[in-house]
Amino acid sequence: MSKLLPILNHPNPILRKISRPLTLEEIRSPKIQSLISDIEKTMITKDGAGLAAPQIGENIRLLVLRDGERVMVIINPQITKKSWAREVDEEGCLSVLDKAGNIIFGNVERHKKIQCSYLDTKGKKQKISAENILARIIQHETDHLNGILFIDKLYHGK
Ligand SMILES: [Zn+2]
Repeated sequence: MSKLLPILNHPNPILRKISRPLTLEEIRSPKIQSLISDIEKTMITKDGAGLAAPQIGENIRLLVLRDGERVMVIINPQITKKSWAREVDEEGCLSVLDKAGNIIFGNVERHKKIQCSYLDTKGKKQKISAENILARIIQHETDHLNGILFIDKLYHGK
């Protein structure tokens, strides 16, 4: 049974570490497989668009996200292409709350289209082309694996 995991909040130092890649052996292990189910359950219960492993206290390069109705698991992601075109839109994060415990929102400029290579839950190589909201979520979650939060990148106009 998958379980709900506590989410770490900014300024927890775990959120600021560079996370390490997973080996194929680790990906296929029962430990990581059950962690993936737990992260999925936590994201869905907390109504997030995505959740990265450091947010639940694990500094590993693993994230889950929602693409419409579908839940995607992305391991060891590498953004291999970024469009010149960028777009500003509002983001929030389950780890960035105000003093009352509410999610705060802010505008961030992101690449409009990206290409991302990653490993799936079986350790198989996959590649995705994404644009707009999906491209934004992948960039936001990949930032988490590098210790970066959206509040580091707030857009203040030109
Ligand atoms: Zn976030």
